[in-house]
Amino acid sequence: MGAHLLDLEHLGRERVIGSYLLDEDGPTLVDCGPATCLDALRAGLAAHGLEVGDLRHLVLTHIHLDHAGAAGSLARENPRLLVHVSEVGAPHVVDPSRLERSARRLYGEDFDRLWGALEPVPEERVRVVGEQVLGLEAFPTPGHASHHVSYLAEDGSCFSGDATGVRIPPSPYVAPVAPPPDIDVEAWERTLDAIVERRPERLCLPHFGVVDDPPQHVWACRAALRTWAGRAREGSEEEFVRAAEEDIRVGVDEETAALFQRAGPLWQSYAGLRRYWDKREETAAA
Ligand SMILES: [Zn+2]
Repeated sequence: MGAHLLDLEHLGRERVIGSYLLDEDGPTLVDCGPATCLDALRAGLAAHGLEVGDLRHLVLTHIHLDHAGAAGSLARENPRLLVHVSEVGAPHVVDPSRLERSARRLYGEDFDRLWGALEPVPEERVRVVGEQVLGLEAFPTPGHASHHVSYLAEDGSCFSGDATGVRIPPSPYVAPVAPPPDIDVEAWERTLDAIVERRPERLCLPHFGVVDDPPQHVWACRAALRTWAGRAREGSEEEFVRAAEEDIRVGVDEETAALFQRAGPLWQSYAGLRRYWDKREETAAA
């Protein structure tokens, strides 16, 4: 495989947020993590003999802060860096103020500790993703976020961001982490079809690591998505969280189970899925 996983050691913990380093027309990162992970990112690059200034491309799956928060900081530090992002995401990396406001509403006083500074990327260095990005096939993968894009490399590596959920090894469980505001369960199921149809050799998950059996992983993601969506439709937040806590605890140690919640708090998935159902009911009533 041509991609290297860099553990960004979010808040000092391994196996929570990762970035992938590849060589596509020069050193390229797929997702870069938040600004609070910059030291670990630098260390990860250094292990490959690189510095931030050597990077040529940053390719983003989506603009959630755990994937793209450091984009502006990297672009400031490296004036040659190009940032590839979906059409809907592009204006938000150029002017992250709205993104920051909504994230601050969601995270409250934890925002700064978790994510750090959100800096703008100069517009002239933003490239809107088409069907091909460098040597990668790019294809829309909405569901987790409406603007989510996944990338397939020629060697069969699929950078599927959060479209294929969160799996913290060695746990076999796949958590369909579903934060607000634009979860779409039906679109997400079609996205899972689109990924399997491409027959990837492996999935490169930001949360966390490389999955060698994509069909099995996607099957587990789909099953859990249906279960979680059903629970959010029927039950309370408390019931949802309690049941999901049991899901992620099966067969793993406490520490690994806790990391699932660091990659995506369960109350947030309830909020995201609940919002999906509320919107559907509004549309049906109109
Ligand atoms: Zn994420």
